[in-house]
Amino acid sequence: MLIMIASVSLAVQAHSDSTPNFICNSDIDRTELTASELELEDRLWTEVLAYLDGVHSLLTTPAECLDGPEAVLQTLDDNGARPQRECINRHRDVELMIKHLDAVLSHPEAARACFDTQRNYEAFGLYAPNEEIRAADPVSSWIDRPTLNDYYEGRAGEVGEAGRELASDFASIIENTQTPEPVSSDLTANTLNTLWSAVGWIPFYAENSAALNPRFRGGYAYAEVMGPWGLLRIEEIDGETVGAEIGMTVQLGDTFYPYHYHHPQEWYVTLTPRTCVEFNRFMVMHWDNPAFEQQRVEDGWSVTVPASESASQRFMPQGTERDWLTYFERNAIHAFEVAPSCDDRPGGLVTVWARTTSRDNDQTTRICAPAHGAGIPVSADDEFVCDLDDWNY
Ligand code: ZN
Repeated sequence: MLIMIASVSLAVQAHSDSTPNFICNSDIDRTELTASELELEDRLWTEVLAYLDGVHSLLTTPAECLDGPEAVLQTLDDNGARPQRECINRHRDVELMIKHLDAVLSHPEAARACFDTQRNYEAFGLYAPNEEIRAADPVSSWIDRPTLNDYYEGRAGEVGEAGRELASDFASIIENTQTPEPVSSDLTANTLNTLWSAVGWIPFYAENSAALNPRFRGGYAYAEVMGPWGLLRIEEIDGETVGAEIGMTVQLGDTFYPYHYHHPQEWYVTLTPRTCVEFNRFMVMHWDNPAFEQQRVEDGWSVTVPASESASQRFMPQGTERDWLTYFERNAIHAFEVAPSCDDRPGGLVTVWARTTSRDNDQTTRICAPAHGAGIPVSADDEFVCDLDDWNY
């Protein structure tokens, strides 16, 4: 009997120390690599881990809250009075993300089975920022993605023009960044230059006229480090769905990313410091905020964002000094207004971007439609209608 008890307790201990069971997406590239290729792959993997470690510490380093930072939940609360803030780790989806990051960071060798450079990725096009950035980094040169310049070459009109401007200003925009205090591990391109160069960038709105503003459509790109379409694609850890989707965004100066919404929750960390009087601004308000008009429709809500000459009151300055973290609830309506350049550097906004439930409901990002035939480009002051679909918990 005594022997039995001893062996049970040993078994329990062995279990708690054991490696988590990682289930990868089915589309991981298993092509065998040469020794020198493996070395290059290693360098990217090391920076993927450093980025995820930086994200982990951003979310968990004690700041306004004992277990992490406070996030802006709404830039204007339900009383229309002031911003609403909350400890980010109060949200179950964020807690789960941290738990899954813990599993990856404490068992990197096992998690690596779900990593590939997306060198032969076929789901959609992934791009290097430009030829210079690609040539300057051996990993990026080896992966040899086409560049955003290739993508926008010969494309007529303002979308193409903005796309080429983004590509040529890319380095100076991503270098003008800093990781917000109190986190000490730098996850910007200034330290993790291989990652920011070799990750696959997506010109997400170039082909999407629903995004309304041509300069914004060309002047925006994002990349995914971890998540269903990123470099590290883990479907499950110990039987739990991994909803974490973590990457980065770059938005060119003098652009307005119109009001938009989606089912998954999302958070952003600002990496571009606030340097000018004409600073970058963001807005997020819950779909049921009384400042909007809500009408119940079949399987959803039609929400009107009223025209306003003082729409700027809904927006907050976006910088690295304070309020660098914001959290968007499901279907929250949000927007980013990036200021024009105010010095000899190109204007821009760089963020760490994440979604926490990237494997449930509908992942589509939807843009609110301008009401009453508002002209393009639209501004924050125009009236919009947002057609929200219900989500399942
Ligand atoms: Zn969003």
